[in-house]
Amino acid sequence: MELWEKTAAELIRMLKKREVSSREITESVLKRIEEKEESTHAFITVTRETALEQADQADKRLRKEKHLPPLNGIPVAVKDVLCTKGIRTTAGSSILGNYIPPYDATVVKRVLRSGAVLVGKTNMDEFAMGSSTENSAFGVTRNPLDPDRVAGGSSGGAAAAVAAGETILSIGSDTGGSIRLPAAFCGVAGIKPTYGRVSRHGLISYASSLDQVGALGKTVEDCALLLNLICGHDRRDTTSADMEVPDFRRSLNKGIKGLRIGLPREYFVEGIDPQVKERIMAAVERLSQNGAHIVDVSLPHTRYAISTYYLVATAEASSNLARYDGVKYGMRSGEEVTDSVNLYEATRSEGFGKEVKRRIMLGTFVLSAGYYDAYYLKAQQVRSLIKRGFDRAFENVDCMVTPVSPCLPFRVGEKITEPLQMYLVDVYTVSLNLAGLPGMSVNCGMVGHLPVGMQIIGKPFDEETILRVASVYEEIK
Ligand code: GLN
Repeated sequence: MELWEKTAAELIRMLKKREVSSREITESVLKRIEEKEESTHAFITVTRETALEQADQADKRLRKEKHLPPLNGIPVAVKDVLCTKGIRTTAGSSILGNYIPPYDATVVKRVLRSGAVLVGKTNMDEFAMGSSTENSAFGVTRNPLDPDRVAGGSSGGAAAAVAAGETILSIGSDTGGSIRLPAAFCGVAGIKPTYGRVSRHGLISYASSLDQVGALGKTVEDCALLLNLICGHDRRDTTSADMEVPDFRRSLNKGIKGLRIGLPREYFVEGIDPQVKERIMAAVERLSQNGAHIVDVSLPHTRYAISTYYLVATAEASSNLARYDGVKYGMRSGEEVTDSVNLYEATRSEGFGKEVKRRIMLGTFVLSAGYYDAYYLKAQQVRSLIKRGFDRAFENVDCMVTPVSPCLPFRVGEKITEPLQMYLVDVYTVSLNLAGLPGMSVNCGMVGHLPVGMQIIGKPFDEETILRVASVYEEIK
């Protein structure tokens, strides 16, 4: 078995026993990047030189220090939506094509402080707007399990890099499913924590009330390891929760006897690929055989989730993206301009891609006088109903299980010309962001060579139950 095939947990054990060096692990991953990037294209930037330097530093610590930082010497890739000091950060957009941040995002700082080796910045849909990583200004990421198919999005690069062995761990972001969907499509594990669990400082904003940073890895344990490091209060993000962070590894493999798992009936109605449904139901059966009580629950406002999400998200995006004006950040149009309005117009027309423009226009529209009450305000009210629906359902269950996506990984090009078809892929994931809840995707088998992801939804700040169920499932599956 090659080093890039191993999990972070295995490699940490091997490093501690001095069976391997971080240099060897990092070289194995970098070599894999060389071999796989042509077909996968998971990265926008590969930080080869600094990675090898960081690996050597990790090896030095290994030789000298008694108490090693928790991720010492382990390769981590970071979605290109998180600022990295001195390393280009594009958010998948031409408008930030040459942007080099003067600071590290809090999560990046934390991960580097824990001894990790940064191997590069992963590809994504422009400003995280998309479900397939086809909306990147830097080319499409392809699914390592089938290069004709998409890797999911918007953290497609993050998931594909883990699946292809081009990194050991990945950090992604999730506004409406962007960690869970690509994790499901690439057959890896990915968790979106509760809103507020992880600092958003240095995360390039898409929709600030929905955005959350999270972890991807080959296994549930690897996600828990990374989660341990990135969670926690940050005074630079006022929405980050000042709460104690448990050691998430303690939740693993605790058994699920007596646990009440809800199946929201609205998630299993028409629109779902029967093969996906069958895999999920088989997984539920396994959970039940291992002592969980399966409970029928209702989330009555599910059918409004997509429209609510696309109103709230685009409204916030239209405001957040107003800062890209050719003055303060990134690209400026080279066109002859006569005044500042001209400059904004030229820069934004050239710098933003089609989907981003569509969303800025939609968001501006729903916030405009005369339409605000009918669209934006209404969406906020429905958002409250969605949240309340979850609260009620959680009175009777400890967690819930659903599919991540109604469909299998689709072909590159299949949905890109039909925005509404693309939006529907998010039907099972966006509600969690609207309600601020944590959710995880774990693989629950294949249809042919294509993976199916099971979503486990937890109560606010109860990532532990999610990890508990996910880790048990991984064992019994
Ligand atoms: N696919 C959804 C969107 O396009 C979610 C993306 C995300 O979570 N960043 O908005």
